[in-house]
Amino acid sequence: MADISIDSIAERYDVAVIGSGAAGLGAAIFAALEGARVLLIERTEYIGGTSALSGGTVWAPGTETGRAANPDDSREKVSAFLDSAVGNFGNRDMREAFLDAAPEAIATLQARTQVQFRPYPRHPDYEWDHPNATLNGRAIEPVPFDTRAMGAARNMIRPPIPEFTVLGGMNIDRVDIGHLLNRYKSPASFLHVARIVTRYMRDRALHGRHTRVVMGGALVARLLASALDLGVDILRSTEVTALTETGGEVTGLRLRAGARTAPYPWTAASSSPPAGSGAPPAAVPPICPTPCPPKAPRPPAIPARCTIWPSASARPMGRGTTRAPSGRPAPPAAAPMAAQRSSRISCSTVRSPAPSASTSRAAAS
Ligand SMILES: Cc1cc2nc3c(=O)[nH]c(=O)nc-3n(C[C@H](O)[C@H](O)[C@H](O)COP(=O)(O)OP(=O)(O)OC[C@H]3O[C@@H](n4cnc5c(N)ncnc54)[C@H](O)[C@@H]3O)c2cc1C
Repeated sequence: MADISIDSIAERYDVAVIGSGAAGLGAAIFAALEGARVLLIERTEYIGGTSALSGGTVWAPGTETGRAANPDDSREKVSAFLDSAVGNFGNRDMREAFLDAAPEAIATLQARTQVQFRPYPRHPDYEWDHPNATLNGRAIEPVPFDTRAMGAARNMIRPPIPEFTVLGGMNIDRVDIGHLLNRYKSPASFLHVARIVTRYMRDRALHGRHTRVVMGGALVARLLASALDLGVDILRSTEVTALTETGGEVTGLRLRAGARTAPYPWTAASSSPPAGSGAPPAAVPPICPTPCPPKAPRPPAIPARCTIWPSASARPMGRGTTRAPSGRPAPPAAAPMAAQRSSRISCSTVRSPAPSASTSRAAAS
């Protein structure tokens, strides 16, 4: 395990990555895959940041995994959806670069590392009522992961938040929740629940925590296991307090571990750039001029369809619009939340009301 301390940084690295969330671990993995010597620096004792506490859902349109859930989706539809949903509030070139790179990045992770994803049968896009929004295929989730193979390194992973666990620390995801709710109705669900609860009890006795991680925990565990496989050195409980620059280039880092501070002189391990690295990327244009131009007017609400989105999502928004999920009418603005929660989805051909001034994005923005 390449878990090092501030006093044992003897090597020179090609790449230093600050922060061990999904972004940092992803950067470290891709640099290591390109042949770079990588140092990952994390200021807390745990690896994973907010990413480890998250749902772990990755919105990455165009992946093979996503296509299994929605073969009809296309790059053009995603692009048009983002143009409508984001409008001028984001840089279009960056969006297009993301759409170009995401499928390949996910494919590389799945082919060359322990990071594995599965499709969501149902996961509507946020901002679902724009043209070309989908109910599935763009959001993928990490496959649950068994951390026992990681040995002591599993203790580096940030524990989940209590809200995402049951029985004082048992990790569950949406598949498990479905089985938990059906445990007395379906023998398969009963068996699934019996299996995961037994495993959890055994893990608590033997390892002190659940070793089957899900959602953000699975994403971070898979990323961390892969980074360690690739020889990434990990420096925890150490904060990068400053970058040292010389002539416009970063030439060192200032590190702090407890009361200890140390400069880390930056000298690349190899004089040549890592294999595969080409010309430096073009400068990224600014997001938008100040102030941002207004977004395109919101299109008319799309006709309702039946979904399984929970009823609590259908609530009036502060700005006067209503995000009613497909398949159910928008609740009246004054409806108490308890009444909305207790209502059930109707699959009848209920249609969203015609757009009015108060539901138009143009008015809202
Ligand atoms: C409950 C919850 C659920 C969520 N679910 C989803 C979801 O399903 N899908 C989704 O896309 N998003 C989700 N999000 C949002 C998502 O978690 C974050 O946007 C994402 O994790 C950010 O990743 P990151 O790698 O940029 O940062 P983080 O995961 O926060 O990692 C940053 C790391 O950098 C370290 N660090 C910071 N400064 C320094 C320094 N100077 N030196 C050394 N280390 C430093 C931090 O300690 C931290 O570990 C969710 C968020 C929450 C709270």
